[in-house]
Amino acid sequence: MLRPYGTPRPHAARLGPLAPDLRRATSHAFTDAAALRAHGAREAHGEFYARYGHANARAFECFVAELEGAEGAVAFASGMAAMHAVLCGLAGAGDRLAIARQIYGGTSNLARRDLPRFGMEVVDFDALDPASLAAALAGGVRLCVVETPVNPTLRLVDLARTAAACHERDVTLVVDGTFAPPPIQRALDHGADLVVHSATKFLGGHSDVLAGVVAGRHEHLTAIEAFRARTGAVLAPDPAWLLGRSAETHSLRVAAQQSAALTIAQALRARVDPRGPLLAVSHPGLADHVDAPLRLRQMPGGGGALVTIEVDGGLPAAMQVFDRFACIARAPSLGGVESNASLPAHTTHAALSAAERRALGIGEGMIRLSIGLEPVERLLDDVMRAIGLE
Ligand code: PLP
Repeated sequence: MLRPYGTPRPHAARLGPLAPDLRRATSHAFTDAAALRAHGAREAHGEFYARYGHANARAFECFVAELEGAEGAVAFASGMAAMHAVLCGLAGAGDRLAIARQIYGGTSNLARRDLPRFGMEVVDFDALDPASLAAALAGGVRLCVVETPVNPTLRLVDLARTAAACHERDVTLVVDGTFAPPPIQRALDHGADLVVHSATKFLGGHSDVLAGVVAGRHEHLTAIEAFRARTGAVLAPDPAWLLGRSAETHSLRVAAQQSAALTIAQALRARVDPRGPLLAVSHPGLADHVDAPLRLRQMPGGGGALVTIEVDGGLPAAMQVFDRFACIARAPSLGGVESNASLPAHTTHAALSAAERRALGIGEGMIRLSIGLEPVERLLDDVMRAIGLE
């Protein structure tokens, strides 16, 4: 059986057009009945019908598989479509899933609202606490899902430790690596079985593509791809082509973004004062970050392009700082070449009460910054001025 999704390709000199073609065809014609049958049964190489995969998606999948050091990758219409296919393509009624408390709100909504309707049991746990993980895994779990770095605190989940605990009990470990794509972090190198990305973020990088991708081993990807073919959540040719273009600059963008983020975080760190107005700054690349030793092991490529600050005065003060940004956009999402700021209490964690946010370490005065490619001095001036630290 041929694999319909992308696998890393050996490097070869480019021949023919330097840029890939955009192929929008949904269907392909064959010479005779035997060829049609062979392609439909995936016994022959080549395309058949676009929902089963197509050239532009496959090129992006090959790129991600290589980036992650994976056997292959499967691309989806969004990050949530990818996560849905992982959870529902690999687990079913009667299975128990351990989903970290520190997880993207969309994944948590899917886990709480939908999976139980299809007979799956979901247990939540604190991904930063090994005892909580062990308790969650004790009852016979099929899949375990964590996200690192954690949004918006930028704490790090120890992947090697989590993977060891999972593999001892034959549990498949799924990591949402959206906040730190390679070359920053390669989750599979640290024991993850599958890594999922919202490609809408850094992999797309230009705030103009909605997409998702999962990378890992064939034993899982075959089922995930088959689920994608059945449910139809394939990445369409146009966004796949745009992602191919983003892929060409991915490493350069990420390197420049995270270097600017570290510069900003270090400058802000020097202005932290328990009396205000800046109470805290978090960036995994800071030498005094609470998870600094783990960062060096797990994120050898750097600390990422996100910086979270906490200002004195809670949400009202954070809203005032937020409204004063002149260069940094006030917008949800992250990972684009344009810097943006978001208020976790109003966006990703709005569904939680202030007490629930506090339990996750999310202060009411927190603002999350995603650093883009604007001149770093301009961004730093903007943040300092907005906080009142000129
Ligand atoms: N995972 C993380 C960490 C995210 O931040 C997001 C979206 O914000 C998703 C998954 C879902 O991705 P998408 O919006 O592409 O469906």
